[in-house]
Amino acid sequence: MIDLRSDTVTRPTPAMREAMARAEVGDDIFGDDPTVNALQQRMAALAGMEAALFMPSGTQSNFCALLAHCQRGDEYIVGQLAHTYRYEGGGAAVLGSIQPQPLAQDARGLMALADIAGAIKPDDPHFARSRLLCLENTWNGHVMPQRYLAEATALARSRGLACHLDGARVFNAAVAEAGPGGDIASALRGITRHFDSVSICCSKGLGAPVGSLLCGSRELITRAHRIRKMAGGGLRQVGLLAAAIDHALTHHLGRLHQDHALAARLADGLRGLPGLSVKSAETNIVFVDVADGRGPALLAHLAAQGILATGLIGLRFVTHQDVDAEGIDRTIAAVRAFVELHPAADAPTAAPRAPY
Ligand SMILES: *Cc1c(COP(=O)(O)O)cnc(C)c1O
Repeated sequence: MIDLRSDTVTRPTPAMREAMARAEVGDDIFGDDPTVNALQQRMAALAGMEAALFMPSGTQSNFCALLAHCQRGDEYIVGQLAHTYRYEGGGAAVLGSIQPQPLAQDARGLMALADIAGAIKPDDPHFARSRLLCLENTWNGHVMPQRYLAEATALARSRGLACHLDGARVFNAAVAEAGPGGDIASALRGITRHFDSVSICCSKGLGAPVGSLLCGSRELITRAHRIRKMAGGGLRQVGLLAAAIDHALTHHLGRLHQDHALAARLADGLRGLPGLSVKSAETNIVFVDVADGRGPALLAHLAAQGILATGLIGLRFVTHQDVDAEGIDRTIAAVRAFVELHPAADAPTAAPRAPY
């Protein structure tokens, strides 16, 4: 089985399971689980923030952040296709009475600065109070440019808004920015320094089974801690999970660049095939548009050969530590066979190579 549906499908390695088995634990509701306490400190230091809090999921982490930043009747400005708006069940609005102000995004996930400026409401009883700008990095595998991060967050701050980053895959962004052999931690802080809070998933490319960390000021994390409790996210011997994440930070962070290389290998292998439009990104996600509505047929063809991808918004292939070059080459061969078997009615010429 070659499972490219997501980087969340990774299984804990034997070494990770051993680290979990060895973990010293306590009761985190009493604050005395040493392993989760150490992990929270480690992640806060990595992100250059005062404090961090273990969260059962990225969704709950973003939820707690939004509720910690905003009161009832406040609003957050967010991309129309951002995870916190579109893919989290509307939790901030449903449970937090926080109004989203979604804005259009370009092909790389960026909201125009003029749109952000125009969406920030004056202090007037007609309007919800604009309180927070929420960005996402990486977005669909794209790394948000440093300059954009600086300009968008400076604009928000100049109008009195705080800034939250949904950094589910921010380590992938940091690895891409650090470049081969570069300093991932300093690249990470180069991103996080623009934000008041950052949510980081450890159950994706890092390969831990469960868990995200919300990082921010001590004050914000104290508020988020109360909301986590309310949401049922207070856990007991959570050091078992924290140990897996600690292991991943030590042993898996340094291999994320391999996922990026595999995604590039896949994109290169598929690019130019008739009827396919390959949108490669800089990290570990490759999107492919299939002409003539044959996406579902291609997915079924792949699944019959034990190759899994998703088709929610175009075909999506995600690389991770449980796939290798051989699996990627098998995937390319299987797609090629499909294209030869089922030529597109009106096969377009090869898609132009993306400029990034
Ligand atoms: C996966 C993801 C989340 C949510 O993480 P879960 O752990 O699945 O709840 C949030 N934002 C982005 C961008 C994600 O990719």
